[in-house]
Amino acid sequence: MPTTSFRQQIPRLRLAIQLSFLTFTLWMGWQFYLFYQWTRDLAPYTPRPAAVEGFLPIGALVSLKRLVLTGYFDQAHPAGLTIFLAALTLGLLARKGFCGWICPVGTVSNLVEQLSTRLKILVTLPGWLNLPLLSLKYLLLAFFGYLIIWNMPLEAIKGFMASPYYLSADGRMLLFFLEPGPLTLTITLAIILISLIVRNFWCRFLCPYGALLGLLAYIGPVAIKRDEGLCSQCQQCSRICPADIPVHGKVAIRNPECLGCLECTAICPEQECPQVTACNKPMAMWMLPLAIIVIYGSIYLWAQLTGHWQGNLSDGALKMIYQKFLHAP
Ligand code: SF4
Ligand code: SF4
Ligand code: SF4
Repeated sequence: MPTTSFRQQIPRLRLAIQLSFLTFTLWMGWQFYLFYQWTRDLAPYTPRPAAVEGFLPIGALVSLKRLVLTGYFDQAHPAGLTIFLAALTLGLLARKGFCGWICPVGTVSNLVEQLSTRLKILVTLPGWLNLPLLSLKYLLLAFFGYLIIWNMPLEAIKGFMASPYYLSADGRMLLFFLEPGPLTLTITLAIILISLIVRNFWCRFLCPYGALLGLLAYIGPVAIKRDEGLCSQCQQCSRICPADIPVHGKVAIRNPECLGCLECTAICPEQECPQVTACNKPMAMWMLPLAIIVIYGSIYLWAQLTGHWQGNLSDGALKMIYQKFLHAP
């Protein structure tokens, strides 16, 4: 494979992969909306897409704890746990590949960033503000970790996972977006407005999911390494980095913020100046996106083939639960 041309094509390849997942997510969201309307007797039947459970990360963390403690794989929202496990595996083996290449929220955030860059409205935060802001997502992660991993006993987990609240969690999540309260609306609008001027604001500072993946990436084998001998200090890599990492001043980037997006390697005028390494050995650049797709796709296929994707509740049973606990006045 010709390394130079592939390197230049990385941003396009990444965008294509990101847009594919984003398109799938939008289609899935629409299907789930139709299903939701069916549960309200307002639309014809549409099957519930299991992938919607990817938007239930807290439920997935609860079921992960139960899986670790008992070996029981959640049967109510197995796709949510599968997606969570796939993202964690990527975090460990392919940096924050889930954030950089797959997550639809990250994709929207990147698109907004590109728009703001073109409009020249992005602001650079003062250095002293970076650390307190960066710590926010870790504080949120610690909060959920304390609540669920540390403080939630097994019996409480079992009770929670059998509760109508958990069983209808996907419907509740949709309702949260369809009928947001004033506080939700205000916070969402504030985050959107801030994201227009502060690069990837949600992902960099607030998302606890990304924080967890970053910690895994930090101990994982993959890093970006800059060859100081080849570097001309043009700083293009630092300017393009969506995580705002000063790439030009680092030798090895193991930073938990690094998405493994490879934008720095693509823009660098020097071939093989920043390059991808695994266990400190250089690896071909194309291997990272390939690994991300293969790992993610394999876990999805495994889940489909082994009954870890579709939940054990029929759509009819879910409709009854929704009607009793979600739609009832
Ligand atoms: S930080 Fe969170 S929202 Fe952003 S790409 Fe990663 S998982 Fe998605
Ligand atoms: S883009 Fe390449 S040459 Fe320029 S500062 Fe970054 S690593 Fe060095
Ligand atoms: S350091 Fe390079 S690979 Fe990591 S987030 Fe920044 S641009 Fe992407």
